[in-house]
Amino acid sequence: ELEISLKVVIVGNGAVGKSSMIQRFCKGTYTRDYKKTIGVDFLEREIEVDGEDVRLMLWDTAGQEEFDAITAAYYRGAHACVLAYSATDRDSFDAIPSWKLKVENECGEIPTVLVQNKIDLVDQCQIDPNEAERLGRALGCKLLRTSVKEDVGVMSVFRHLASRCLIE
Ligand code: GDP
Ligand code: MG
Repeated sequence: ELEISLKVVIVGNGAVGKSSMIQRFCKGTYTRDYKKTIGVDFLEREIEVDGEDVRLMLWDTAGQEEFDAITAAYYRGAHACVLAYSATDRDSFDAIPSWKLKVENECGEIPTVLVQNKIDLVDQCQIDPNEAERLGRALGCKLLRTSVKEDVGVMSVFRHLASRCLIE
């Protein structure tokens, strides 16, 4: 039986919740004081999508994103991408177009989803909903909203990407 394995890269500014999202999806856990590194290159989880078993390998960074020092090896062979920002961090939203370009330069056009994380912090939100929708349209990416903390929307992110990869 054909086994489908997808490498997914998760990019965005530091502290938007990338490592937490990987940990939530692959291990089902969440911690507030999450270490900057997972200690391995990626974590994986298998899910069924459109009747197929798909193994998702979610690649984390060890905080290099804060120094703009993610190496080509991180991106190499990626099938799909999560562009993540935090609802409470305006700079992380403004940085999304440049993250998209970096991924495009290394990987070409791959299925990509735009993710607004930390939606549980409603009263600290710094991004107008229309603006977020507009950015998604401009980049040609579906916009999804998550709270990794409350476990809202995380599964949808990876189901959407896996499904897109199966079509291509
Ligand atoms: P990374 O630098 O992008 O990998 O971000 P981390 O995963 O290390 O998360 C940074 C901080 O944000 C940690 O304290 C997390 O616990 C916290 N965090 C992550 N996701 C959420 C969320 O959905 N809601 C809230 N309130 N905090 C979150
Ligand atoms: Mg991290």
